Amino acid sequence: MQDDDSIFEGFRDFFDSGTWIVFRNLALFFALIFWLAVAYWVFKDARRRIDDPWLVGMATVLGLVPPFVGAIIYMLFRPPEYLDDVRERELEIKAIEERLAETDLHCPVCRAAVRENFLVCPVCTTKLKQACEACKQPLEPLWQICPYCEARVATPAPIEFAPTSSARGRRSRRRSE
Ligand SMILES: [Zn+2]
Ligand SMILES: [Zn+2]
Repeated sequence: MQDDDSIFEGFRDFFDSGTWIVFRNLALFFALIFWLAVAYWVFKDARRRIDDPWLVGMATVLGLVPPFVGAIIYMLFRPPEYLDDVRERELEIKAIEERLAETDLHCPVCRAAVRENFLVCPVCTTKLKQACEACKQPLEPLWQICPYCEARVATPAPIEFAPTSSARGRRSRRRSE
């Protein structure tokens, strides 16, 4: 029991001594440093997630007051994504849309994806466009002159699709006129 008493007295001496005051001041100092570091982290994190400088400022103030708790509140309500990720995703979506627009043309007969400059469908060999007689570039149906080599388009023939029933009907009607 004597040991317990001496330990207790030792504690009391410790709390009365200057060592305790130094220890307490050190703890307060580190708490202050940690508080400022947390607020700085909130500022840095908010800057990466929020576009509006006013909102970044408000988030930083929240990181300071109330100390520590403000940072937790900020973490609950912060935007889920970094601005860089959002921008990157938007660029990716744009690239995908462009790629889709590129392959949006389809063969009218077999629905295979074809490109703007294809003369025939590579899948079902349907004639898609007329080629310029001089430079062999694909021509649009309404063009009177080749825009690539200035050659006149001899007979602006309509696009001949493979014999679907409606196309055949139209052609026979024209022949009978
Ligand atoms: Zn086809
Ligand atoms: Zn041409």
